[in-house]
Amino acid sequence: MPVYVKETADRCLHCKVPQCQKGCPVHTNIPEVISLFQENKLREAGKMLFENNPMSLVCSIVCDHNRQCRGHCVLGKKGAPINFSVIEQFISDAYFDSMEIEKQPFKGKKVAVIGGGPAGITVAFKMAAAGYDVTIFEGKDDIGGVLRYGIPDFRLPRSICDRYRNKLLETGVKIRPNTVIGGSLEINNLFRDGYSAVFVGTGVWRSKTLGIKGESLPNVHYSMDFLMNPNGYNLGESVAIIGMGNAAMDVARVALRHGARHVTLFARSKRVTASPHEFSYAQLEGAEMVFGKAITEITEEGPVFKTAIFDENDKVIGYEDELDYVKSDSTVISISNGPKNKLILTTPGLQANDQGLLITDENCMTTVEGVFAAGDVVQGANTVVHAVEEAKRAAEGMIKYLENL
Ligand SMILES: Cc1cc2nc3c(=O)[nH]c(=O)nc-3n(C[C@H](O)[C@H](O)[C@H](O)COP(=O)(O)OP(=O)(O)OC[C@H]3O[C@@H](n4cnc5c(N)ncnc54)[C@H](O)[C@@H]3O)c2cc1C
Repeated sequence: MPVYVKETADRCLHCKVPQCQKGCPVHTNIPEVISLFQENKLREAGKMLFENNPMSLVCSIVCDHNRQCRGHCVLGKKGAPINFSVIEQFISDAYFDSMEIEKQPFKGKKVAVIGGGPAGITVAFKMAAAGYDVTIFEGKDDIGGVLRYGIPDFRLPRSICDRYRNKLLETGVKIRPNTVIGGSLEINNLFRDGYSAVFVGTGVWRSKTLGIKGESLPNVHYSMDFLMNPNGYNLGESVAIIGMGNAAMDVARVALRHGARHVTLFARSKRVTASPHEFSYAQLEGAEMVFGKAITEITEEGPVFKTAIFDENDKVIGYEDELDYVKSDSTVISISNGPKNKLILTTPGLQANDQGLLITDENCMTTVEGVFAAGDVVQGANTVVHAVEEAKRAAEGMIKYLENL
Protein backbone atom coordinates (compact mmCIF):
# COMPACT_ATOMS: atom_id res chain seq x y z
CA MET A 1 0.00 0.00 0.00
CA PRO A 2 1.39 3.45 -0.79
CA VAL A 3 2.34 4.84 2.62
CA TYR A 4 0.46 8.10 2.12
CA VAL A 5 -2.94 6.36 1.95
CA LYS A 6 -2.71 5.13 5.51
CA GLU A 7 -1.12 8.37 6.66
CA THR A 8 -3.90 10.32 5.03
CA ALA A 9 -6.52 8.19 6.82
CA ASP A 10 -4.74 8.68 10.15
CA ARG A 11 -5.04 12.46 9.82
CA CYS A 12 -8.86 12.34 9.73
CA LEU A 13 -10.46 14.01 12.77
CA HIS A 14 -13.69 11.96 12.41
CA CYS A 15 -15.75 15.12 12.84
CA LYS A 16 -19.20 14.71 14.43
CA VAL A 17 -20.70 16.87 11.67
CA PRO A 18 -18.45 15.96 8.74
CA GLN A 19 -18.26 18.85 6.29
CA CYS A 20 -16.56 16.59 3.72
CA GLN A 21 -19.71 14.47 3.57
CA LYS A 22 -21.84 17.59 3.13
CA GLY A 23 -19.61 18.71 0.28
CA CYS A 24 -19.99 15.41 -1.58
CA PRO A 25 -22.96 15.43 -4.00
CA VAL A 26 -23.72 11.77 -3.07
CA HIS A 27 -22.93 12.37 0.63
CA THR A 28 -20.38 9.57 0.95
CA ASN A 29 -20.07 8.58 4.62
CA ILE A 30 -16.40 9.56 4.67
CA PRO A 31 -15.58 9.31 8.43
CA GLU A 32 -17.21 5.85 8.65
CA VAL A 33 -15.40 4.59 5.52
CA ILE A 34 -12.10 5.84 6.95
CA SER A 35 -12.82 4.15 10.32
CA LEU A 36 -13.51 0.80 8.63
CA PHE A 37 -10.32 1.19 6.61
CA GLN A 38 -8.31 1.92 9.76
CA GLU A 39 -9.80 -1.21 11.38
CA ASN A 40 -8.60 -3.33 8.43
CA LYS A 41 -12.21 -3.82 7.29
CA LEU A 42 -11.51 -3.01 3.66
CA ARG A 43 -14.37 -5.12 2.28
CA GLU A 44 -16.91 -3.42 4.54
CA ALA A 45 -15.50 -0.02 3.56
CA GLY A 46 -15.68 -0.97 -0.15
CA LYS A 47 -19.25 -2.23 0.22
CA MET A 48 -20.29 0.99 1.93
CA LEU A 49 -18.70 3.07 -0.82
CA PHE A 50 -20.13 1.03 -3.69
CA GLU A 51 -23.69 0.78 -2.30
CA ASN A 52 -23.80 4.54 -1.91
CA ASN A 53 -22.03 5.25 -5.20
CA PRO A 54 -21.60 2.45 -7.75
CA MET A 55 -19.16 4.72 -9.62
CA SER A 56 -16.89 5.26 -6.57
CA LEU A 57 -13.90 3.81 -8.41
CA VAL A 58 -14.39 6.44 -11.13
CA CYS A 59 -15.40 9.32 -8.86
CA SER A 60 -12.29 8.82 -6.72
CA ILE A 61 -10.31 9.75 -9.84
CA VAL A 62 -12.36 12.27 -11.83
CA CYS A 63 -14.45 14.23 -9.30
CA ASP A 64 -13.57 17.85 -8.62
CA HIS A 65 -12.37 16.98 -5.10
CA ASN A 66 -11.17 20.50 -4.37
CA ARG A 67 -14.75 21.73 -4.65
CA GLN A 68 -16.26 18.70 -2.92
CA CYS A 69 -14.85 16.43 -0.15
CA ARG A 70 -11.34 17.90 0.02
CA GLY A 71 -12.57 21.46 -0.35
CA HIS A 72 -14.90 21.05 2.65
CA CYS A 73 -12.45 19.31 5.03
CA VAL A 74 -12.10 21.37 8.23
CA LEU A 75 -8.35 20.73 8.33
CA GLY A 76 -8.13 22.86 5.18
CA LYS A 77 -9.05 25.97 7.20
CA LYS A 78 -5.63 26.13 8.86
CA GLY A 79 -3.49 23.68 6.89
CA ALA A 80 -3.62 20.80 4.45
CA PRO A 81 -7.04 19.17 4.03
CA ILE A 82 -7.47 15.41 3.78
CA ASN A 83 -7.33 13.90 0.31
CA PHE A 84 -10.12 11.38 0.83
CA SER A 85 -10.00 10.55 -2.89
CA VAL A 86 -6.73 8.61 -2.49
CA ILE A 87 -8.32 6.49 0.24
CA GLU A 88 -11.49 6.01 -1.81
CA GLN A 89 -9.46 5.03 -4.84
CA PHE A 90 -7.36 2.56 -2.89
CA ILE A 91 -10.39 0.88 -1.28
CA SER A 92 -12.53 0.84 -4.46
CA ASP A 93 -9.72 -0.51 -6.58
CA ALA A 94 -8.85 -3.28 -4.11
CA TYR A 95 -12.50 -4.24 -3.56
CA PHE A 96 -14.10 -3.91 -7.00
CA ASP A 97 -13.17 -7.13 -8.79
CA SER A 98 -13.95 -9.46 -5.89
CA MET A 99 -17.17 -7.62 -5.02
CA GLU A 100 -20.30 -9.80 -4.97
CA ILE A 101 -23.51 -7.90 -5.42
CA GLU A 102 -26.30 -9.16 -3.19
CA LYS A 103 -29.39 -9.58 -5.34
CA GLN A 104 -32.97 -9.73 -4.11
CA PRO A 105 -35.06 -12.67 -5.44
CA PHE A 106 -36.12 -12.23 -9.09
CA LYS A 107 -39.15 -9.94 -9.31
CA GLY A 108 -40.33 -11.38 -12.63
CA LYS A 109 -39.90 -8.15 -14.57
CA LYS A 110 -37.48 -6.86 -17.21
CA VAL A 111 -36.14 -3.32 -17.45
CA ALA A 112 -34.32 -1.64 -20.32
CA VAL A 113 -31.49 0.85 -19.80
CA ILE A 114 -30.71 3.04 -22.81
CA GLY A 115 -27.13 4.29 -22.63
CA GLY A 116 -24.19 2.72 -20.81
CA GLY A 117 -22.63 5.84 -19.26
CA PRO A 118 -22.36 6.53 -15.51
CA ALA A 119 -26.13 7.12 -15.20
CA GLY A 120 -27.05 3.91 -17.05
CA ILE A 121 -24.43 1.84 -15.20
CA THR A 122 -25.69 3.11 -11.82
CA VAL A 123 -29.30 2.26 -12.68
CA ALA A 124 -28.30 -1.16 -14.04
CA PHE A 125 -26.49 -2.11 -10.81
CA LYS A 126 -29.31 -0.80 -8.60
CA MET A 127 -32.09 -2.52 -10.61
CA ALA A 128 -30.19 -5.82 -10.82
CA ALA A 129 -29.62 -5.73 -7.04
CA ALA A 130 -33.34 -5.07 -6.56
CA GLY A 131 -34.18 -8.30 -8.42
CA TYR A 132 -34.95 -7.09 -11.95
CA ASP A 133 -33.73 -8.54 -15.24
CA VAL A 134 -31.72 -5.66 -16.78
CA THR A 135 -30.55 -5.09 -20.36
CA ILE A 136 -28.35 -2.15 -21.33
CA PHE A 137 -28.74 -0.90 -24.91
CA GLU A 138 -25.57 0.99 -25.83
CA GLY A 139 -25.19 2.84 -29.11
CA LYS A 140 -21.40 2.49 -29.19
CA ASP A 141 -19.33 -0.67 -29.30
CA ASP A 142 -18.78 -0.77 -25.53
CA ILE A 143 -20.17 0.75 -22.35
CA GLY A 144 -18.69 3.66 -20.40
CA GLY A 145 -20.12 6.70 -22.18
CA VAL A 146 -17.90 9.76 -21.74
CA LEU A 147 -15.67 7.70 -19.40
CA ARG A 148 -14.60 5.58 -22.38
CA TYR A 149 -15.09 7.91 -25.35
CA GLY A 150 -14.40 11.37 -23.92
CA ILE A 151 -12.12 11.51 -20.87
CA PRO A 152 -8.58 10.71 -22.04
CA ASP A 153 -7.02 7.42 -20.99
CA PHE A 154 -4.18 9.16 -19.10
CA ARG A 155 -6.78 10.71 -16.77
CA LEU A 156 -9.04 7.66 -16.47
CA PRO A 157 -7.68 4.32 -17.72
CA ARG A 158 -10.04 2.58 -20.17
CA SER A 159 -9.43 -0.66 -18.25
CA ILE A 160 -11.73 0.73 -15.53
CA CYS A 161 -14.63 0.76 -18.02
CA ASP A 162 -13.75 -2.84 -18.94
CA ARG A 163 -13.88 -3.80 -15.27
CA TYR A 164 -17.34 -2.19 -14.98
CA ARG A 165 -18.53 -4.08 -18.06
CA ASN A 166 -17.28 -7.37 -16.64
CA LYS A 167 -18.83 -6.72 -13.24
CA LEU A 168 -22.21 -5.87 -14.80
CA LEU A 169 -22.14 -9.09 -16.83
CA GLU A 170 -21.13 -11.07 -13.73
CA THR A 171 -24.11 -9.51 -11.90
CA GLY A 172 -26.43 -10.80 -14.61
CA VAL A 173 -26.94 -7.55 -16.52
CA LYS A 174 -27.19 -8.12 -20.29
CA ILE A 175 -25.51 -5.71 -22.66
CA ARG A 176 -26.47 -5.04 -26.29
CA PRO A 177 -23.67 -2.94 -27.81
CA ASN A 178 -23.94 -1.05 -31.13
CA THR A 179 -27.68 -0.62 -30.59
CA VAL A 180 -28.98 2.92 -30.91
CA ILE A 181 -32.53 3.22 -29.60
CA GLY A 182 -34.40 5.69 -31.78
CA GLY A 183 -32.88 4.09 -34.89
CA SER A 184 -34.06 0.67 -36.05
CA LEU A 185 -35.44 0.00 -32.56
CA GLU A 186 -37.62 2.49 -30.70
CA ILE A 187 -38.76 2.77 -27.07
CA ASN A 188 -42.20 1.41 -28.07
CA ASN A 189 -40.52 -1.77 -29.33
CA LEU A 190 -38.98 -2.27 -25.88
CA PHE A 191 -42.41 -2.20 -24.20
CA ARG A 192 -43.72 -4.50 -26.96
CA ASP A 193 -40.94 -6.97 -26.12
CA GLY A 194 -41.85 -7.19 -22.45
CA TYR A 195 -39.72 -4.55 -20.72
CA SER A 196 -41.89 -3.10 -17.96
CA ALA A 197 -39.87 0.11 -17.53
CA VAL A 198 -37.24 1.98 -19.51
CA PHE A 199 -34.41 4.17 -18.27
CA VAL A 200 -32.90 6.81 -20.55
CA GLY A 201 -29.31 7.85 -19.77
CA THR A 202 -28.18 8.95 -23.20
CA GLY A 203 -26.12 11.99 -22.21
CA VAL A 204 -25.31 14.93 -24.48
CA TRP A 205 -23.57 13.96 -27.70
CA ARG A 206 -24.49 16.70 -30.18
CA SER A 207 -21.62 19.15 -30.52
CA LYS A 208 -22.79 22.73 -30.17
CA THR A 209 -21.79 24.77 -33.21
CA LEU A 210 -20.55 28.33 -33.48
CA GLY A 211 -22.77 29.06 -36.49
CA ILE A 212 -19.99 30.96 -38.28
CA LYS A 213 -18.38 30.77 -41.72
CA GLY A 214 -15.69 28.10 -42.04
CA GLU A 215 -17.06 25.51 -39.65
CA SER A 216 -17.20 22.82 -42.38
CA LEU A 217 -13.59 23.27 -43.53
CA PRO A 218 -11.34 20.15 -43.40
CA ASN A 219 -9.07 21.58 -40.70
CA VAL A 220 -11.96 22.29 -38.29
CA HIS A 221 -13.19 19.68 -35.79
CA TYR A 222 -15.46 19.31 -32.76
CA SER A 223 -13.96 18.30 -29.43
CA MET A 224 -16.06 15.16 -28.80
CA ASP A 225 -15.31 13.79 -32.29
CA PHE A 226 -11.59 14.32 -31.70
CA LEU A 227 -11.55 12.91 -28.16
CA MET A 228 -13.48 9.82 -29.26
CA ASN A 229 -10.62 8.75 -31.52
CA PRO A 230 -7.62 11.12 -31.55
CA ASN A 231 -5.57 8.66 -33.63
CA GLY A 232 -7.85 9.33 -36.59
CA TYR A 233 -6.72 12.99 -36.75
CA ASN A 234 -3.69 14.86 -37.99
CA LEU A 235 -4.04 18.22 -36.30
CA GLY A 236 -0.63 19.49 -37.41
CA GLU A 237 1.89 21.47 -35.36
CA SER A 238 -0.30 24.33 -34.24
CA VAL A 239 -3.80 23.88 -32.86
CA ALA A 240 -6.33 26.55 -31.90
CA ILE A 241 -9.03 25.48 -29.46
CA ILE A 242 -12.19 27.53 -29.13
CA GLY A 243 -13.50 27.23 -25.56
CA MET A 244 -12.15 27.17 -22.02
CA GLY A 245 -14.11 24.31 -20.42
CA ASN A 246 -12.97 20.93 -19.10
CA ALA A 247 -13.39 19.26 -22.49
CA ALA A 248 -11.23 21.97 -24.09
CA MET A 249 -8.50 21.23 -21.52
CA ASP A 250 -8.68 17.53 -22.44
CA VAL A 251 -8.42 18.39 -26.15
CA ALA A 252 -5.33 20.52 -25.45
CA ARG A 253 -3.58 17.80 -23.44
CA VAL A 254 -4.43 15.06 -25.94
CA ALA A 255 -3.30 17.23 -28.89
CA LEU A 256 0.03 17.92 -27.15
CA ARG A 257 0.47 14.19 -26.49
CA HIS A 258 -0.25 13.48 -30.15
CA GLY A 259 2.54 15.69 -31.44
CA ALA A 260 1.10 19.22 -31.60
CA ARG A 261 3.78 21.79 -30.63
CA HIS A 262 1.71 24.93 -30.16
CA VAL A 263 -1.71 24.58 -28.58
CA THR A 264 -3.68 27.72 -27.75
CA LEU A 265 -7.10 27.97 -26.12
CA PHE A 266 -9.23 31.04 -26.80
CA ALA A 267 -12.03 32.42 -24.62
CA ARG A 268 -14.41 35.25 -25.46
CA SER A 269 -14.32 36.71 -21.92
CA LYS A 270 -11.98 36.27 -18.95
CA ARG A 271 -14.14 33.46 -17.55
CA VAL A 272 -12.72 29.93 -17.34
CA THR A 273 -15.42 27.26 -17.08
CA ALA A 274 -12.90 24.43 -16.56
CA SER A 275 -12.04 23.50 -12.98
CA PRO A 276 -8.88 25.20 -11.66
CA HIS A 277 -7.29 21.75 -11.47
CA GLU A 278 -7.88 20.89 -15.15
CA PHE A 279 -6.89 24.41 -16.21
CA SER A 280 -3.59 24.25 -14.35
CA TYR A 281 -2.68 20.82 -15.75
CA ALA A 282 -3.33 21.97 -19.31
CA GLN A 283 -1.05 24.96 -18.62
CA LEU A 284 1.57 22.72 -17.03
CA GLU A 285 1.67 20.59 -20.16
CA GLY A 286 2.28 23.63 -22.34
CA ALA A 287 -1.12 24.90 -23.48
CA GLU A 288 -1.40 28.68 -23.83
CA MET A 289 -4.55 30.52 -22.74
CA VAL A 290 -5.74 33.68 -24.49
CA PHE A 291 -8.72 35.68 -23.21
CA GLY A 292 -10.97 38.28 -24.79
CA LYS A 293 -11.15 36.77 -28.27
CA ALA A 294 -14.56 36.45 -29.94
CA ILE A 295 -14.38 34.21 -32.98
CA THR A 296 -15.89 35.60 -36.21
CA GLU A 297 -14.74 33.14 -38.87
CA ILE A 298 -12.46 30.14 -39.46
CA THR A 299 -10.28 29.88 -42.57
CA GLU A 300 -7.93 27.17 -43.85
CA GLU A 301 -5.12 29.28 -42.28
CA GLY A 302 -6.76 29.43 -38.85
CA PRO A 303 -9.40 31.28 -36.80
CA VAL A 304 -10.21 34.99 -37.03
CA PHE A 305 -11.12 36.92 -33.89
CA LYS A 306 -12.47 40.23 -32.70
CA THR A 307 -10.47 41.42 -29.70
CA ALA A 308 -12.55 42.39 -26.67
CA ILE A 309 -12.17 45.63 -24.73
CA PHE A 310 -12.73 45.11 -20.98
CA ASP A 311 -13.81 47.56 -18.30
CA GLU A 312 -12.25 47.62 -14.81
CA ASN A 313 -14.56 44.75 -13.73
CA ASP A 314 -13.38 42.55 -16.63
CA LYS A 315 -16.73 42.99 -18.40
CA VAL A 316 -16.58 43.08 -22.21
CA ILE A 317 -17.65 46.59 -23.26
CA GLY A 318 -16.78 46.47 -26.93
CA TYR A 319 -14.35 45.22 -29.58
CA GLU A 320 -11.34 46.66 -31.34
CA ASP A 321 -11.86 47.54 -35.03
CA GLU A 322 -9.00 45.43 -36.33
CA LEU A 323 -9.50 41.67 -36.76
CA ASP A 324 -6.92 39.24 -35.33
CA TYR A 325 -5.90 36.52 -37.83
CA VAL A 326 -4.37 33.62 -35.89
CA LYS A 327 -2.29 31.11 -37.86
CA SER A 328 -3.02 27.49 -36.97
CA ASP A 329 -2.98 24.18 -38.79
CA SER A 330 -6.27 23.14 -37.25
CA THR A 331 -9.07 24.50 -35.09
CA VAL A 332 -11.03 22.45 -32.55
CA ILE A 333 -14.37 23.81 -31.37
CA SER A 334 -15.16 22.94 -27.77
CA ILE A 335 -18.15 24.98 -26.65
CA SER A 336 -20.19 22.23 -24.94
CA ASN A 337 -22.67 19.63 -26.14
CA GLY A 338 -26.41 19.23 -26.22
CA PRO A 339 -28.62 16.12 -26.41
CA LYS A 340 -29.43 14.35 -29.66
CA ASN A 341 -33.14 14.24 -30.48
CA LYS A 342 -33.52 10.65 -31.77
CA LEU A 343 -35.62 9.47 -28.82
CA ILE A 344 -37.84 12.54 -28.84
CA LEU A 345 -38.54 12.19 -32.57
CA THR A 346 -39.44 8.50 -32.24
CA THR A 347 -41.29 8.40 -28.89
CA PRO A 348 -44.79 9.92 -28.89
CA GLY A 349 -45.32 12.08 -25.80
CA LEU A 350 -41.65 12.31 -24.76
CA GLN A 351 -41.13 15.97 -23.96
CA ALA A 352 -38.00 18.07 -23.66
CA ASN A 353 -37.32 21.64 -22.62
CA ASP A 354 -36.14 24.34 -25.04
CA GLN A 355 -32.58 22.97 -24.83
CA GLY A 356 -33.73 19.48 -25.78
CA LEU A 357 -33.18 18.11 -22.25
CA LEU A 358 -35.76 15.57 -21.07
CA ILE A 359 -38.40 16.78 -18.64
CA THR A 360 -38.81 14.57 -15.56
CA ASP A 361 -40.89 14.60 -12.36
CA GLU A 362 -39.75 14.15 -8.73
CA ASN A 363 -39.39 10.38 -9.32
CA CYS A 364 -37.29 10.99 -12.46
CA MET A 365 -40.15 9.75 -14.67
CA THR A 366 -40.35 11.49 -18.05
CA THR A 367 -43.60 12.62 -19.66
CA VAL A 368 -44.10 9.02 -20.90
CA GLU A 369 -45.37 6.54 -18.30
CA GLY A 370 -42.75 3.96 -17.37
CA VAL A 371 -39.89 5.87 -19.02
CA PHE A 372 -37.38 7.34 -16.57
CA ALA A 373 -34.31 9.49 -17.21
CA ALA A 374 -31.27 10.93 -15.42
CA GLY A 375 -27.78 12.27 -16.00
CA ASP A 376 -26.66 14.72 -18.64
CA VAL A 377 -29.73 14.11 -20.85
CA VAL A 378 -31.79 15.72 -18.06
CA GLN A 379 -29.28 18.12 -16.46
CA GLY A 380 -27.25 19.15 -19.49
CA ALA A 381 -23.45 18.67 -19.51
CA ASN A 382 -22.57 18.11 -15.85
CA THR A 383 -20.36 15.67 -13.95
CA VAL A 384 -20.15 11.95 -13.18
CA VAL A 385 -21.14 12.30 -9.53
CA HIS A 386 -24.18 14.41 -10.41
CA ALA A 387 -25.25 11.75 -12.94
CA VAL A 388 -24.90 9.10 -10.20
CA GLU A 389 -26.87 11.12 -7.66
CA GLU A 390 -29.81 11.51 -10.03
CA ALA A 391 -29.59 7.95 -11.40
CA LYS A 392 -29.92 6.60 -7.85
CA ARG A 393 -33.15 8.56 -7.48
CA ALA A 394 -34.32 7.29 -10.88
CA ALA A 395 -33.71 3.69 -9.79
CA GLU A 396 -35.76 4.31 -6.64
CA GLY A 397 -38.52 5.83 -8.77
CA MET A 398 -38.47 2.84 -11.12
CA ILE A 399 -38.64 0.35 -8.24
CA LYS A 400 -41.62 2.21 -6.73
CA TYR A 401 -43.31 2.28 -10.14
CA LEU A 402 -42.69 -1.42 -10.84
CA GLU A 403 -43.93 -2.48 -7.40
CA ASN A 404 -47.26 -0.79 -8.06
CA LEU A 405 -47.62 -2.07 -11.63
C1 LIG B 1 -14.26 15.58 -22.49
C2 LIG B 1 -15.04 15.47 -21.22
C3 LIG B 1 -14.37 15.39 -20.00
C4 LIG B 1 -15.07 15.27 -18.81
N1 LIG B 1 -14.37 15.18 -17.64
C5 LIG B 1 -15.04 14.99 -16.48
C6 LIG B 1 -14.34 14.84 -15.25
O1 LIG B 1 -13.13 14.90 -15.18
N2 LIG B 1 -15.08 14.63 -14.12
C7 LIG B 1 -16.45 14.54 -14.13
O2 LIG B 1 -17.05 14.30 -13.08
N3 LIG B 1 -17.14 14.70 -15.28
C8 LIG B 1 -16.47 14.92 -16.46
N4 LIG B 1 -17.17 15.07 -17.63
C9 LIG B 1 -18.64 14.98 -17.60
C10 LIG B 1 -19.14 13.54 -17.38
O3 LIG B 1 -18.38 12.64 -18.12
C11 LIG B 1 -20.62 13.43 -17.71
O4 LIG B 1 -21.33 14.34 -16.91
C12 LIG B 1 -21.15 12.00 -17.47
O5 LIG B 1 -20.46 11.07 -18.25
C13 LIG B 1 -22.65 11.94 -17.76
O6 LIG B 1 -23.08 10.60 -17.64
P1 LIG B 1 -24.34 10.07 -18.47
O7 LIG B 1 -24.47 8.63 -18.14
O8 LIG B 1 -25.49 10.96 -18.24
O9 LIG B 1 -23.98 10.26 -20.01
P2 LIG B 1 -22.76 9.70 -20.94
O10 LIG B 1 -21.52 9.48 -20.19
O11 LIG B 1 -22.73 10.66 -22.06
O12 LIG B 1 -23.32 8.31 -21.46
C14 LIG B 1 -24.40 8.22 -22.33
C15 LIG B 1 -24.32 6.92 -23.09
O13 LIG B 1 -25.50 6.73 -23.84
C16 LIG B 1 -25.18 6.25 -25.15
N5 LIG B 1 -26.27 6.64 -26.04
C17 LIG B 1 -26.60 7.90 -26.43
N6 LIG B 1 -27.71 7.86 -27.20
C18 LIG B 1 -28.09 6.57 -27.27
C19 LIG B 1 -29.18 5.90 -27.89
N7 LIG B 1 -30.12 6.57 -28.57
N8 LIG B 1 -29.25 4.55 -27.79
C20 LIG B 1 -28.33 3.85 -27.09
N9 LIG B 1 -27.28 4.43 -26.46
C21 LIG B 1 -27.17 5.78 -26.54
C22 LIG B 1 -23.86 6.93 -25.44
O14 LIG B 1 -23.16 6.23 -26.45
C23 LIG B 1 -23.16 6.85 -24.08
O15 LIG B 1 -22.48 5.65 -23.91
C24 LIG B 1 -16.49 15.23 -18.83
C25 LIG B 1 -17.17 15.35 -20.05
C26 LIG B 1 -16.46 15.46 -21.22
C27 LIG B 1 -17.23 15.59 -22.52
